[in-house]
Amino acid sequence: MIVYLGVGSNLGNRKNNIEEGIRKINRLKNTKVLKQSSFIQTDPEGGPGGQPKFLNAALKISTNLSALKLLKRLKKIEKELGRTKAIRNGPRTIDLDILLYGDRMIRSKELIVPHPRMFDRDFVIKPLAEII
Ligand code: AMP
Repeated sequence: MIVYLGVGSNLGNRKNNIEEGIRKINRLKNTKVLKQSSFIQTDPEGGPGGQPKFLNAALKISTNLSALKLLKRLKKIEKELGRTKAIRNGPRTIDLDILLYGDRMIRSKELIVPHPRMFDRDFVIKPLAEII
């Protein structure tokens, strides 16, 4: 399956966090990172004020993992990289979103694909448009 992911970071060494995330995604079973967009810097949307800016990128990957398994693996990577869930839309070392999973439409409790907020977010669409 060809899958597009959105990646963002606004805490610590943002570029390092994203690159480490990409390395971890590449190490998932039957999963390969095929393409990476350039990084763009964006203002945080929502959440508490005074947050640092985000660095965002999009990834094209191939995987044999189901969408739900992939989501679980991505959440584990977020945890490993030190993301805490304390504040909604608050600062995070890494945020990993499934934007597109092949041409599937998924609507479950844990997962909505295509990602519901991707179309009105420049920081998602711009890097995605670069590689899709
Ligand atoms: P966020 O704070 O943006 O990382 O949102 C995290 C929650 O959104 C996760 O616990 C997921 O279960 C849920 N979610 C729903 N759809 C998606 C998606 N397409 N990609 C990633 N997380 C999703």
